Amino acid sequence: MTGAHTADLLSKFDPLIAEREALLATGVRDPFAIVMEKVLSPTEAIINGKPTILLGTYNYMGMTFDPDVVEAGRQALTDFGSGTTGSRVLNGTYSPHKDVEEALKEFYGTSSAMVFSTGYQANLGIISTLAGKGDYIILDADSHASIYDGCWLGNAEIVRFRHNSVEDLDKRLGRLPKEAGKLVVLEGVYSMFGDIAPLPEMVAVAKKHGAMILCDEAHGMGFFGEHGRGVYEQLGCEDDIDFVVGTFSKSVGTVGGFCVSNHPKFEVLRLVCRPYVFTASLPPSVVATAATSIRKLMHAGNKRGKLWDNSRRLHKGLKDLGFKLGTEDAQSAIIAVILPDQEQAVGMWQSLLDLGLYVNMARPPATPAGTFLLRCSLCAEHRDEQVAEIIEMFAKAGRHVGCIPS
Ligand code: PMP
Repeated sequence: MTGAHTADLLSKFDPLIAEREALLATGVRDPFAIVMEKVLSPTEAIINGKPTILLGTYNYMGMTFDPDVVEAGRQALTDFGSGTTGSRVLNGTYSPHKDVEEALKEFYGTSSAMVFSTGYQANLGIISTLAGKGDYIILDADSHASIYDGCWLGNAEIVRFRHNSVEDLDKRLGRLPKEAGKLVVLEGVYSMFGDIAPLPEMVAVAKKHGAMILCDEAHGMGFFGEHGRGVYEQLGCEDDIDFVVGTFSKSVGTVGGFCVSNHPKFEVLRLVCRPYVFTASLPPSVVATAATSIRKLMHAGNKRGKLWDNSRRLHKGLKDLGFKLGTEDAQSAIIAVILPDQEQAVGMWQSLLDLGLYVNMARPPATPAGTFLLRCSLCAEHRDEQVAEIIEMFAKAGRHVGCIPS
């Protein structure tokens, strides 16, 4: 297909292709090619013909099979059809899109809410539109890819600070021109290790240097804070965060992204934010499920309690077995098991799958260089027996692979 003198643009991926081929030649299943053949519930699926416990989804609050949520989607599909075939600013705003933005305003208590087609696009759009040429974005080195990509799209100067270091944030902000526009981007929960940010201290430093603040609460929505708004609510920073970004793909249980704010000029962003304007809006069935789910999450205290119980039990169980974990105690519903190298990570992952447990494997570039993780994320619907079974499976797999003492 390519001519004799065509430089093959894919040749830069040769080392990655070779690494993958070598790994798969050892007989392991490809950790990045799992297919869910049937999904039985938020916590169980059929993978490779076998019932498997799911411990690697972001279905924190187990809303995907909630009967009211499913029914809202079904009804909207009947009433509005399968898709909008257009942008939010042209023919793609239906009443369910306005309704989900109302639900978000109720949930977050803000004056504005803007819905994007994914959380990735929400970060891409909001960050690139807020901070452009001549402005500065100051972000945590461990920020999610969508945050980095938002920085690059907007052409702002990018300044990274050491993960969760208030001191480094202060130092780096102090070196920037006083009058320049500055956006500090933080995350409530960092999804690789499951640790949370020291938001009050970071907010104080950002304010001292005259920066605006955006907080991504993708992994905090639903179960942190009195109203489930996120870590920023739990830690008392509601009045100081200018923009909260979130997603429907985790606790809400569908797909979509959003930004909420009390900024009086926020609505202008709808006209100038390219990842909002130049793409089709979400199908009405999706936003209808999201609206129902968000309103139910406002009264989900029991589920919230159960999710925290599950997270603490799993964290303690794995720690007692001798696994190295991403945090000293359970700071969120993500528990990261740190393995010394790719071989052990893949070995553990495969053993767990053979035993009937699915977890996420994470490797660079999603993780810091040289870090291989098995990321466990809990669901409020995991039953006590399932959590006990999961710990038992980790014990078996860990001994089999040799990463914990037998
Ligand atoms: N922000 C963070 C912190 C995330 O972890 C993710 C997804 N893993 C996103 C944004 C993007 O969300 P979405 O899946 O809706 O694109």
